[in-house]
Amino acid sequence: MRLVLLGPPGAGKGTQAAILSEKLGVPHISTGDLFRKNIGEGTPLGVEAKGYIDAGKLVPTDVTARMVESRLAEDDAVDGFLLDGFPRTVEQADLLTEILRKKDVALDGVVQFKVSEDVVVERMLARGRADDNEDTIRTRMKVYRDETAPLIDHYGDKIIAIEAEGSVEEINERTMTALGK
Ligand code: AMP
Repeated sequence: MRLVLLGPPGAGKGTQAAILSEKLGVPHISTGDLFRKNIGEGTPLGVEAKGYIDAGKLVPTDVTARMVESRLAEDDAVDGFLLDGFPRTVEQADLLTEILRKKDVALDGVVQFKVSEDVVVERMLARGRADDNEDTIRTRMKVYRDETAPLIDHYGDKIIAIEAEGSVEEINERTMTALGK
């Protein structure tokens, strides 16, 4: 399956993606994880991305889309993938459609994790990542509302909405059911 996972920061996309990846047998491709790996290794891409990530802002689309395209070209992503954190804007969604069109494939669906803002802030403060301080969280929530939430309308009937409050297992079961698995 070729799926995009959509939801505000702190919605639990990464946690669900790891479980779904195992159950569905497709790789979990997280742009945030790819950036953090590059930052850890001190690559030019990491150096370029770090300032944006620390500020809670989006890394420029050309850099991000190139990173995603090369990851999707790897062997393990040929038959399916879970994209976590990309696309984050309508512009990125159009680029993704183009990347997939070149491969003659398309998305099967876009899983939208629905969760209230209170729960999201609570979860983010609990995980304690470097970019999880209160100012950055507020910026990322605003970026989500302004830039990413419009993707819900953009994807229209490709959206598979999941109520994402509750235990990790409950949310996973709801997702598997919604995917017909
Ligand atoms: P995440 O782990 O998905 O919360 O991403 C952490 C940070 O990486 C974000 O706050 C952005 O700075 C950057 N990032 C991740 N995905 C993207 C993307 N698709 N476009 C631009 N920046 C991104």
